[in-house]
Amino acid sequence: MTNKDRGILMVLSGPSGVGKGTVCAALRQMDTDLVYSVSATTRSPRAGEVDGVNYFFKTRDQFKQMIAQDELLEYAEYCDNFYGTPREFVERTLDSGRDIILEIEVQGALKVKEKFPEGVFIFLLPPSLDELQSRIVTRGTETEDVIRSRMRIARDELALMEHYDYAIVNDQVEAACRRIQAILTAEHCVKDRMVPTIKQWIEEVH
Ligand code: 5GP
Repeated sequence: MTNKDRGILMVLSGPSGVGKGTVCAALRQMDTDLVYSVSATTRSPRAGEVDGVNYFFKTRDQFKQMIAQDELLEYAEYCDNFYGTPREFVERTLDSGRDIILEIEVQGALKVKEKFPEGVFIFLLPPSLDELQSRIVTRGTETEDVIRSRMRIARDELALMEHYDYAIVNDQVEAACRRIQAILTAEHCVKDRMVPTIKQWIEEVH
């Protein structure tokens, strides 16, 4: 199988509260060909979250077992909970030629980059720092301690933006989705993804 036939692995990161979940959900509606990777986590479900749709909710023991059995492409600890990407689903999706999006935090994204340097890494930014804090507060699902800790993590995450390929400001969800779709379209045209096929064509012409 050539690179051209393989799907594109896209990673979307950005500080807590920036709206990654909302953007991903909107993207899934706008682009039904794009596959979404459902992560495993030890965090408790928030109201409305469904096991197997938003996350695979696991106990710490179950999560540790997944690590021991090498079932995760990457995992990270975030605000005292574990989060990880089930490996097999990602590989199967890419092999079948479909594009997949992973919505994960920065440490995990950097581990994915080691394994998939050809992946497309997108960092979602808030319109401003004040806006970010108010989004975390108005979500109302977190205690004050968690809000403080998420803001500190946000600062550290912003510092790692340089490892990404693209930065998108999430001023409006639809506009952010359109930019991500534009990136995906452009990435499908990157010459290097075509090189193996074209080399084969060259060999075939006598
Ligand atoms: P939340 O608890 O708000 O759903 O997620 C907290 C953070 O964990 C977010 O930054 C989210 O992107 C990240 N996250 C979700 N799934 C994964 C995963 O599989 N791996 C990693 N490394 N981070 C994840």
